[in-house]
Amino acid sequence: MNFRKAPLAPGLHFVGVPIGSARDITLRALDVLASADVLAAEDTRSLRKLLDIHGVPLDGRPLMALHDHSRDAVVDRLVAQMAEGRSVAYSSEAGMPLIADPGFELSRAAVAADLPVTCAPGPSAALTALALGGLPTDAFFFGGFLPQAKAARLSALSALRDVPGTLVLYESPKRLGAMLRDAAETLGRARSAAVCRELTKKFEEVRRGTLESLAEVYAGAAPKGEIVVLVDRPRSETVSDFDLDSELRAALGSMSVRDAADVVSKASGLPRKQVYKAALSIAKDDG
Ligand code: SAM
Repeated sequence: MNFRKAPLAPGLHFVGVPIGSARDITLRALDVLASADVLAAEDTRSLRKLLDIHGVPLDGRPLMALHDHSRDAVVDRLVAQMAEGRSVAYSSEAGMPLIADPGFELSRAAVAADLPVTCAPGPSAALTALALGGLPTDAFFFGGFLPQAKAARLSALSALRDVPGTLVLYESPKRLGAMLRDAAETLGRARSAAVCRELTKKFEEVRRGTLESLAEVYAGAAPKGEIVVLVDRPRSETVSDFDLDSELRAALGSMSVRDAADVVSKASGLPRKQVYKAALSIAKDDG
């Protein structure tokens, strides 16, 4: 038996669950699932299965469904239970609750009712992809799922064009080809990217390339499984000297030469030495 059943404080306990490999559950997640007075899940069937795999008994405790279609009434009932002193454990179907998954309404309601909230963290496809993708992880932007309609997707991608960090996007296999084509058009064909598929599962695969080359690979047939797309930030060839000058001047308005060089070098992808030299020269000129 890998878990400990012990009294759990009243309130809301989020529980991260695996994104593929059942053994990625944490011991603390099992403790919380074994101990909570009430269990709630986006998908009660998959939570039951997980409990079975790890030998955690339900022991007659209520297991409630809380997904996007059942929200308000169930949230009210769970908040009422917590207010009466019960502990509620909530997990989504896979990975971390609230990350492209339900849970936010419940969190907001618990916070508004001044109830304690804890989280037993677990895997997330976003962070797993970042670890494997081979793109910088010093800064990243989680964009979740892009809109499905082409015009809305193009405009969402345009809004992400200048984000100074790696973009992390979730996508369904059947839209992957179209999404990569739109990303290549909007963000630049030469941008580095990675398609991370079936993470932690038997057919895990990471394909790295430019947006253009990946769009070609996936233009024909939709791959199988679950997918995270990573896209590198804009790199030096897209930053003109004028941009560098004005970015540095803006940064120097509120920070030292050293800090301005750090920030602008990270944002532009230009070598720090080159940016530091330019920052020093602007600072001297403005002296
Ligand atoms: N809450 C989850 C998390 O923390 O990653 C995300 C749930 S969201 C509804 C499902 C999407 O996450 C999938 O369509 C896919 O984009 C991504 N995803 C989940 N599991 C994955 C896996 N094993 N490999 C690749 N992507 C995955």
